[in-house]
Amino acid sequence: MSDFLLELGKSPNARRLVKALGLPIPLPPVLGRDRTPWSARPLADRRIVVGATDGAELVAPLAETLAAAGANAYLEMPDALRAAFREPGESFGRPAQELAALGDKATCDALVLDATGIAAVAGLRAVYYFFHPRVARLARSGRVLVLGRTPDGLGSEAAAAQAALEGFVRSLAKEIGRTGATANLVLVAPGAGSRLGPVLRFLLSSKSSFVTAQPLQVTARARTLAEPPLARPLEKKTVLVTGAARGIGEATARLFAQEGAHVVCLDRPADDGPTSQLARALGGTPLSVDLSDEAAPGKIADALRALGGVDVVVHNAGITRDKTLARMSEAQWDGVLGVNLAAVVRTHAALEPLLRDNGRVVCLSSIAGLAGNVGQTAYGASKAGIVGFVRATAERLADRGITVNAVAPGFIETRLTAAIPVAIRQVARRLAALGQGGLPEDVGQALLFLATPGAQGITGRTLRVCGGAFVGA
Ligand code: NAD
Repeated sequence: MSDFLLELGKSPNARRLVKALGLPIPLPPVLGRDRTPWSARPLADRRIVVGATDGAELVAPLAETLAAAGANAYLEMPDALRAAFREPGESFGRPAQELAALGDKATCDALVLDATGIAAVAGLRAVYYFFHPRVARLARSGRVLVLGRTPDGLGSEAAAAQAALEGFVRSLAKEIGRTGATANLVLVAPGAGSRLGPVLRFLLSSKSSFVTAQPLQVTARARTLAEPPLARPLEKKTVLVTGAARGIGEATARLFAQEGAHVVCLDRPADDGPTSQLARALGGTPLSVDLSDEAAPGKIADALRALGGVDVVVHNAGITRDKTLARMSEAQWDGVLGVNLAAVVRTHAALEPLLRDNGRVVCLSSIAGLAGNVGQTAYGASKAGIVGFVRATAERLADRGITVNAVAPGFIETRLTAAIPVAIRQVARRLAALGQGGLPEDVGQALLFLATPGAQGITGRTLRVCGGAFVGA
């Protein structure tokens, strides 16, 4: 199951040898991963070069977030925009500096450009000028982040210029992935600037190591909360994780418990052993239920009612039964759609009345549902169905402050992917911009982020955790 090239690349001597001999072996980068609990200063001492173009709209939340999160900002922007950095810099003891203070040769940990002011195609040249001289000096596992705006109310040319940012980011991500660096675009809707902070904290930190090459929208929809907590964000929250016995579900349950949640760990009766063991270790509650059973939603609702309701539901349990359509049996088709989609819809319906206001629902989709895959007509259908489910449910629950999102993993190292033939597995890993498969905890970190109170600006969306493996069709 282990990735031989990744293991080899962990040894500095092996890396030096491969380089010295000029061997054509692309050793994947070792990704920086932050496994510590959430804290107020996840970007402590990071060197972040911040650019903004004329008319940039998000410098204020950007300045506030970077200083509060402990980052050292180096500015390249018009004088009028720099003023926003003065006060937060002073109050958090992180005065922003001129770019020259970084020195010509120094690396930086992140490059952030507020491109919301770009309203014409000619303005895109500013994107080139900002990134071109610096991209080669981005540190390993560095971050590129572009801030754009949603197309609401934009004229044709402004919409074209803003949409161009997406293609830029997707492509740059593929160029810098071999160093473990990621590139993403955050599209902020009018009036949603105050919800940007938690998104920046996640995407600029080492908790988003496998999230790259994609846009993420922040909306002003759903009720606004008071200051979201920065540490122990799930304190006093009850969370249900389905399929918690192993893989992504287990990693997610562990991360949620680390942030203070009471985790209800659900899996099949046949997996009662590992599920109970995990629940005990996390101080949570085990729940043995087969989700393909029609009576399952009622049993789950009873268990959560006994705990006084639920704040977060993670619909993670899922199965694959890969066969080309011509060879697929009816039972295989029914099994996959039954667990991956029908059970999610049914379970959600039973739990919606128990879900507290400002709650969070996160479902597991897959890049197979977005890009399609040979042998996965049923699986792809079930996972694309999830995308539609979260979109519609998010709209319906927005007034209660409840957000509903999906996470679409790419190739993640679990039992599910260990079943893939070894040669295909090797190829699948190398297809990612980051040159490797992700770990269950990478998906868990994204699920955790979407489950926190601070993620209130993200709803109805599908966030890929695929290391840039998505090619699209
Ligand atoms: P896994 O097989 O390691 O774990 C899935 C868990 O779900 C198991 O513990 C299993 O017992 C449980 N489960 C399955 N059917 C169930 C049922 N009827 N009732 C109760 N529990 C049931 O898989 P994983 O890789 O951790 O996948 C988790 C989710 O992520 C799935 O929805 C999967 O489709 C999705 N996903 C995984 C990958 C990947 O590369 N591993 C990629 C894309 C999407």
